[in-house]
Amino acid sequence: MPNFSLAIIGAGPMATYAMERLAALLPPLAGSCRIVVHVFEASGRFGDGAVHSADQPATSLMNRIACQIALGADETNVPPDELLPLALRPTFYEWCARKLAATGERRFALAPTDMPARKLHGEALSEQFAVYREVLQAAGVKVAVHAETAAAVEPTPHGFIVVTATARREADHILIVTGHGIAPPPPVAGTRLVEAAYPLEHMLDAARILPGQSVAVDGMGLTAIDVILHLTEGRGGCFVRDGGQLTYRPSGREPGAIIPFGPTGHFVHCRPHNSKAGDLSREHNGVFFSQAAVAALRKTTRSTTQSAAGPSSQLDFESDILPLVVLEMAYVYYRALLGTEWADTLRQAATPAWVKFLQAPPQTGGADACDALIAPLQACFDAHVAADTSFVDDKFDWQAALVPLPPDRAISGDAWRDAVISFMERDLVEARRGNLNSPIKAACDGVWRDLRTVFCAVADDGGLTPASHRKFQSTYLRIYNRLSNGAGGSSLEKILALVRSGQVDVTIGPEPRVKSSPAGIQVSGGRSGVTRGADLLIRGRIRPFDAAGEPGTLYGSLLDQGLIRRWTTPGPVEAAFTPGALDLDTSFHPRNTGGQVESRLTFLGAPAEGARFFQTSAARPNCGNYILNIVAAWARELRGAIAERIERFQPAEGGQ
Ligand SMILES: Cc1cc2nc3c(=O)[nH]c(=O)nc-3n(C[C@H](O)[C@H](O)[C@H](O)COP(=O)(O)OP(=O)(O)OC[C@H]3O[C@@H](n4cnc5c(N)ncnc54)[C@H](O)[C@@H]3O)c2cc1C
Repeated sequence: MPNFSLAIIGAGPMATYAMERLAALLPPLAGSCRIVVHVFEASGRFGDGAVHSADQPATSLMNRIACQIALGADETNVPPDELLPLALRPTFYEWCARKLAATGERRFALAPTDMPARKLHGEALSEQFAVYREVLQAAGVKVAVHAETAAAVEPTPHGFIVVTATARREADHILIVTGHGIAPPPPVAGTRLVEAAYPLEHMLDAARILPGQSVAVDGMGLTAIDVILHLTEGRGGCFVRDGGQLTYRPSGREPGAIIPFGPTGHFVHCRPHNSKAGDLSREHNGVFFSQAAVAALRKTTRSTTQSAAGPSSQLDFESDILPLVVLEMAYVYYRALLGTEWADTLRQAATPAWVKFLQAPPQTGGADACDALIAPLQACFDAHVAADTSFVDDKFDWQAALVPLPPDRAISGDAWRDAVISFMERDLVEARRGNLNSPIKAACDGVWRDLRTVFCAVADDGGLTPASHRKFQSTYLRIYNRLSNGAGGSSLEKILALVRSGQVDVTIGPEPRVKSSPAGIQVSGGRSGVTRGADLLIRGRIRPFDAAGEPGTLYGSLLDQGLIRRWTTPGPVEAAFTPGALDLDTSFHPRNTGGQVESRLTFLGAPAEGARFFQTSAARPNCGNYILNIVAAWARELRGAIAERIERFQPAEGGQ
């Protein structure tokens, strides 16, 4: 019988989805081939991994609703004959319902639109990982788990060796799903900078951050929100509802001051109540910002470049795409504001200028093109309010939609704090109205979230010029994160209560500057003029993946061996942009330093992010989810490689 060994490096959600596919596809082959799967996980947590660890504090929530979390593929990803029996592949929501029925424990009692704690998701992932492992083992596939870091991968004449501190293990194929990497060791006592916030329970424990100390948090996104709730609610404080408003009751064990700061000076926006849950037909399909529109623009584009796949035309996000995004937002906004019966009128009004734009996008692009494209919709609105003044203050303002708190409002720290509070209050009201009824939430969710595949058609694999790719990452992906990938209402309402109570100080405002000296940390607001001292600075943001950023680790070794290379957006040499992601083919196999594809290695998730977009995400059930489709394609290819090995072995050696 031939042998086949697979190594999986990293055992977070992506590895769990992979194990589900292996459990569905490999058992029929196990009688004809000795298959071994080695799984390496630095944290020792198999299935949940570090980010979704079932051991983390309960204050860290997901930003995805319970009914939109998958634990493996379903019939929208693969044909029926490639599925596991239904009982073995619950969605997260079904898993919770089963656990509730079996245990009666209230922590499993979630509504479909609740945002679960990440630790609960982790519990489900690790249980399912164990289920898939059992299915494989029962069929005769050996699954060996190693609570170790894969430090290097070395090529051999027949495959690879995965090197850990204690062993060298052979592998014919390797799936590398290392996600957000390995947490560094906690900083030594007395260090003023905490470079990585996770795992919160080790990095930000009570011995490192003493009650009464002041901490500055670099970031105002999802990580910063986790940090703040861990240092307040996680230290025994509690939130109580008082006359409809949430207020915070401190425990006395919190830091004296928590000072978050970031370029915009305010937190990410609130994810709206999801009125589309369970009904795919309610998700928005692009009318003006669509795959077809992007393809049409590529025919008119002025920038053509040579890539591995041949000549390709590149777009400029600000001049070619932003006007379409803004037009689509205006359309969705007014359809929600005026009523769906207005959809045809709005569509017809906007079409002539849109068609002209697609034929010849103006070279100057930008704000003027946005205004020109939405002018017909603004005219529809003006005509409507002339007859019915109830909406008179609700005209769509695209600049305010993208940047609701312009930096020039930070005339003082107090003025900025008041502006942040009133923005958060309005944002929470809109979020409660939901992603279909609130015009602004419908526009942000319908365009920036539902149309992510169109953004991918724009930006993936060198679709933008190098300069525009750089700007897309530094500016527009941040806008995406703020507008449509923010935190849930329950977390942001707590953050608002903490800002109101003064426990969280947002007076620094936009354009912050940080100085670190032996005496302490000093943060000052470029606009507000406010300066605050802090005992500690916590890096409250996730470091983006960069293969070259970690010499001496797994990726350093892969680069040194020439097995991988970093992606560079093609374009004039002087403008080239190398975001840090790997250069991968369409099946997520790496190109080596010579440009050849190594199909026995596969990288999914974070290592692709930057050359392709929206790769670091939990999977979603019953919608043909792209993450699950990618994993399914990998598993099918792997099954093909094993079948080929079986076929080649039998005629030559007769089999046993
Ligand atoms: C704090 C945080 C919160 C998030 N919340 C959400 C959310 O609510 N919803 C959502 O959709 N997405 C969320 N994400 C995005 C996240 O990328 C995905 O949800 C998911 O974690 C991706 O899974 P993964 O398996 O690719 O990576 P990970 O979950 O990062 O897992 C990778 C694993 O690989 C291990 N590893 C790394 N290097 C090695 C090595 N050399 N040897 C051995 N093991 C190694 C790590 O220890 C880790 O456990 C969040 C991300 C972060 C960082």
